[in-house]
Amino acid sequence: MENRVGKIYFCEICKNEVKFEKDGGGQLFCCGQPMQEKQAKEEAN
Ligand SMILES: [Zn+2]
Repeated sequence: MENRVGKIYFCEICKNEVKFEKDGGGQLFCCGQPMQEKQAKEEAN
């Protein structure tokens, strides 16, 4: 299984961002759709 610990996921609709502290294997959902993985290069701001 892919290890997502430390990765950031975001919601395109409400802009929520979450960072994995522990990956239990479940899918992240927000606003009724799967959250997207945030690419590291987009963090520069
Ligand atoms: Zn949302």
